[in-house]
Amino acid sequence: MSLFHPINLVCPNCQAAVQMDAVGSVNADRRPDLREAIMDDSFQDVPCPSCEESFRLQPQFNYLDAGRRQWIAAFPAARLPDYIEAEHEVAAIFADSYGENAPEAARAVGDDLDVRLTFGWPAVREKLLAREHDLDDVVLELLKLDLLRRLPSSPMAVGIELRLMLASDAFLTFVWMNSATEGAIEEISVPIEHYAAIADNLTPWEKLRSRFANKTFVDMQRLYMGEAEESAIAS
Ligand SMILES: [Zn+2]
Repeated sequence: MSLFHPINLVCPNCQAAVQMDAVGSVNADRRPDLREAIMDDSFQDVPCPSCEESFRLQPQFNYLDAGRRQWIAAFPAARLPDYIEAEHEVAAIFADSYGENAPEAARAVGDDLDVRLTFGWPAVREKLLAREHDLDDVVLELLKLDLLRRLPSSPMAVGIELRLMLASDAFLTFVWMNSATEGAIEEISVPIEHYAAIADNLTPWEKLRSRFANKTFVDMQRLYMGEAEESAIAS
């Protein structure tokens, strides 16, 4: 079931009080229109009734697409710095919904699901796009890391992310964007052969790939932040 709850906001432009329906969960099997709205960036974007300026709520919902075997906890971009704590929360939510604490029928659905945690809209959209084109999201992150090594210069920095925007039979198009504003900084198109070369020979990538093993936050950003903290929690 897709669930929404009313919330009261203040318009960032004119300070008028605005009420809107914030999403709590999306069932993409029953509501493919909501999936489409995530893909076209219109989901949870509302015009202010007073000044008509539109603004978008940050994601905070669970996403289920049993047909595509996807379950995603979509978190607000601002929670990225505490992704380790978020991963623990997500494990508990999933266990109750489709995992070990769920009724048998739900567990049967859950067995087939790939569980992911994302921060911000571009990250959740990227997961849907990757699945639509049968792209392995771990390989995509390895491809991004490979691009970072090969590019003479890159805008990589805290608050900047690299996201898959378009996929075709020939190319993958990535965009460097500002996490806070989602504004595009620079675009890179990569021949699909580059992705295939990594996917077909993962041996040289085993060490990096292991960093994503059994993780729900499958994102190269985890390699750039809080690693010491992560090992402290693991030990
Ligand atoms: Zn307004």
